[in-house]
Amino acid sequence: MDTVNKKVKLATIWLAGCSGCHMSFLDLDEWLFEVAKFADIVYSPVGSDIKDYPENVDVCLVEGAVANEENLELLYKVRQRTKFVISFGDCAVTANVPAMRNMLGSSEPVLKRCYLELGDQTAQLPHEPGIVPELLDRVRPIHELVDIDLFIPGCPPSAPRIQAAIEPLLKGEQPVMEGRSMIKF
Ligand code: SF4
Repeated sequence: MDTVNKKVKLATIWLAGCSGCHMSFLDLDEWLFEVAKFADIVYSPVGSDIKDYPENVDVCLVEGAVANEENLELLYKVRQRTKFVISFGDCAVTANVPAMRNMLGSSEPVLKRCYLELGDQTAQLPHEPGIVPELLDRVRPIHELVDIDLFIPGCPPSAPRIQAAIEPLLKGEQPVMEGRSMIKF
């Protein structure tokens, strides 16, 4: 936690996911005013316009699996710059729906199916570097790539479960585990 400004620096990101976990975060409704009392949202697709992930973040909720180079780069940056990283929702925890493409093997058949077979006669594979992030051969859950401090399973996790996880963290305490609602290693 920042010792000058006592508020927790909170971030959220989404990688390969549907944004449903973030919608569940927004379902915290009026409790979001409590979040605002204890935390500054320093980076988030739903609450900040900052382009680069900042340094010295206290807590980050990571939605989604790792499916492409851009996801991977951001996840490494998040781990490097964040004290407490939460694997947020089943796509982050198990790779879930995005990992269904793993059954097709490498990324090549996926690209061919999406861009060529389902496209019209002008269809072509993305070829401009930097426009479409390169797909990884396999979609992976985030704990396979970086250390995780807390897992919140669910598709999406319910708002009360999210609150139970982050409320103590916002007050500088550890979340209390109840059954399988959260998992900490
Ligand atoms: Fe969407 Fe479910 Fe994945 Fe969350 S866990 S991003 S709700 S598919």
